[in-house]
Amino acid sequence: MARARDPIADLRRIAFLLERANEATYRVRAFRSAAKALAGMPAAELTERAGNGTLTELAGVGDVTARCVAESLAGEEPVYLRRLVATEGSDLDAEATALRAALRGDCHTHSDWSDGGSPIEEMALAAVELGHEYLVLTDHSPRLTVARGLTANRLRQQLDHVAKVNAALPEGFRILTGIEVDILADGSLDQDDDLLARLDVVVGSVHSGLKDERSKMTRRMLKAVANPHLDILGHVTGRMVSSRPAGVTGPGDRGHRARTRAESDFDADAVFAACAEHDTAVEINSRPERQDPPKRLIRRALEAGCRFAINTDAHAPGQLDWQRFGCERAALCGVPADRVINTWSAEQLVAWTQNRS
Ligand SMILES: [Zn+2]
Ligand SMILES: [Zn+2]
Repeated sequence: MARARDPIADLRRIAFLLERANEATYRVRAFRSAAKALAGMPAAELTERAGNGTLTELAGVGDVTARCVAESLAGEEPVYLRRLVATEGSDLDAEATALRAALRGDCHTHSDWSDGGSPIEEMALAAVELGHEYLVLTDHSPRLTVARGLTANRLRQQLDHVAKVNAALPEGFRILTGIEVDILADGSLDQDDDLLARLDVVVGSVHSGLKDERSKMTRRMLKAVANPHLDILGHVTGRMVSSRPAGVTGPGDRGHRARTRAESDFDADAVFAACAEHDTAVEINSRPERQDPPKRLIRRALEAGCRFAINTDAHAPGQLDWQRFGCERAALCGVPADRVINTWSAEQLVAWTQNRS
């Protein structure tokens, strides 16, 4: 008999690949729930249940996931996993591939502390598997209540929790602390100054009043960019596009419904000039439905002398691999690796953010 594989690892891998391909959330959840339900089970019981067909009696385990487990235990790569691997991925051209290879971490990610779908630990493990050296955890700020933004107190609790998680993670990898802080109507930031100063990385984004009139939005963004706590300006235009990038296949998803949104109106040249002046990085957001900023604005930010951060804005582990989409767009615009702050080591990155504030 072939040597058994690790069925939990196979279930998690399938969930990762489904997320990466932007598949329906319920489908991903089936595999993550099954992995969670079976993770603590003694190997002997797992084998016995797979043998007598009683895995499906457990909450969170269905026919498909039970079949995957049985195949894993029999030492076979589950058919479901094999099919996903066979149909995955897109080919990047040489420049985009080189840029992706130069990235050492991700500066914009969410966990289930705000509107992400997975615990911090799972996000971190997926980042380790991708070869990252760090992951900046940037859950939302208080005013974004629809995304369960963290109050100052909950953020303090999160900082303690991250310290504990970090202690248990493999050497050479760490979670950096951070926030995706709302840029409020007057351009101020939606969190206490002392907390912003304590965090390793601060991403600031506009989530409300996206239709502000041009001069108001420009003033708002200029004030935020000049704030020494703000390190990265997140999804600059706030646009939502409905198209899928090359390589993303699969049926529709509630998280990917056709909800388009126009770009916010602001003086991009003034904002990018301010980013260059204050050394605030411009985010290249990799999410398929955002693709923000559009390429013409990436080129203008490049000309203005801005630095960039190529981020996923991942809300689930598999989405951490979406960085390749951002790299593809950055490469098309001629963004060189030495302008991208997440090509730096964690130490360089933190030294930079601390120097700025
Ligand atoms: Zn955001
Ligand atoms: Zn975000």
